[in-house]
Amino acid sequence: MDCIFCKIVNGELPSQKVYEDEFAVAFRDINPIAPVHVLTIPKKHISSLLDIGTEDKELIGHLHQVIQNVARITGVDKTGFRVITNIGEHGQQSVHHLHYHVIGGRQLEWKA
Ligand code: 5GP
Ligand code: ZN
Repeated sequence: MDCIFCKIVNGELPSQKVYEDEFAVAFRDINPIAPVHVLTIPKKHISSLLDIGTEDKELIGHLHQVIQNVARITGVDKTGFRVITNIGEHGQQSVHHLHYHVIGGRQLEWKA
């Protein structure tokens, strides 16, 4: 499958990893919008939030724990941060492998 995040998972493409375990990897966004901009993804290819199945319940819970780890590793647990997953066209999803943006390190504003 021609998926850039699968290639990051299997090491075909380089990335600046901040965390990795058996089920998930977190790496710095190539085009960061804030001092901390980390993408947390499952190693399993799931196209978007809409494709999460009942068999993925445990994995999704685990990803939330990974996001906690990412927040602690990058220090934004102390200052606050935002978690975003974009879905489909109106959501402006550009990579079709489920990912959670973890964004912080500066004061954020809320606008869509
Ligand atoms: P989306 O727009 O799908 O929500 O987010 C995709 C994100 O992946 C974008 O913020 C983009 O900068 C990032 N991205 C795209 N290609 C690469 C890559 O090859 N490496 C890394 N680290 N990030 C990437
Ligand atoms: Zn993939």
